[in-house]
Amino acid sequence: MNREQLSADKPYLVLHEAEPDGEGNEVSTTTVFLTASQCPIGCNMCDLHFNTLPTATPAGAIPRQIDSAIKDSDAKWLKLYNSGNFFDPRSIPSGDYTAIAERCNRFDRVIVENHPQFGKSRLQSFLKLVTCQFEIAVGLETVQPRWLGRLEKQMSRDDFSSYASEIARLGVDLRVFLILGVPGIDVVESVRWTRLSLRHAIACGARHVSIIPARSGHGWGGKAEELPKFSTTLLAEIHEQLLQDSGGRAVVTLDLWDVPANDAEYYRLQQSNLTQSV
Ligand code: SF4
Repeated sequence: MNREQLSADKPYLVLHEAEPDGEGNEVSTTTVFLTASQCPIGCNMCDLHFNTLPTATPAGAIPRQIDSAIKDSDAKWLKLYNSGNFFDPRSIPSGDYTAIAERCNRFDRVIVENHPQFGKSRLQSFLKLVTCQFEIAVGLETVQPRWLGRLEKQMSRDDFSSYASEIARLGVDLRVFLILGVPGIDVVESVRWTRLSLRHAIACGARHVSIIPARSGHGWGGKAEELPKFSTTLLAEIHEQLLQDSGGRAVVTLDLWDVPANDAEYYRLQQSNLTQSV
């Protein structure tokens, strides 16, 4: 979708899918990709700004978008992804928290994305309004300090760790996004750092770790062509390795966005994503 076609009254995408709950069950989940204001962080590899508004999100728009997305949903879990940070008030106006929380409370679990720089006191205000289990997804990406710096995340590994402890104290669950591969690094080194990053995410209390194979064509400071190549068979083997590494302490899923659904390994990966007991 072109940026000009976006409307503040409509999410730009809604998906109904299944998620593993960590106890061997699949949970129906509605994912709402909210149309909201652009994220000010500007990570090097991120292309989410294509789906954002150039201005602050108007008051009342987010509850309206959620209503249109969940009107026919009988899902148990809800993901509210705003191409940025849930506690950035330019993206999700804090005056809408009560209306948003009312909608969240129809679900058992609600997952949002947030960067540690945003809204520690706003998180506490929002938690007073929700009765569902709240989960925050944080894009740690990698614990390799040089790569983390090159991604321009404006976050160190220690910033991530202290945010993880802080939200755990508040009873909020943690989901972590990790990247597999950066430009100029071979497959072996990429896998090594993803395994180390997984270990760190789990040590910080992650309930769910989502592995995202780096996609070409989306930023990377013009170096996307130098990304390592992973076949689907290799991705399936890496996923199995990461599941073993996790030792059942967290759900570990591997992002299938770029894997063609007719690939012979697609079904195997989809199944290993869904049937996990922790
Ligand atoms: S913090 Fe998230 S949304 Fe913002 S630029 Fe980075 S990856 Fe993209």
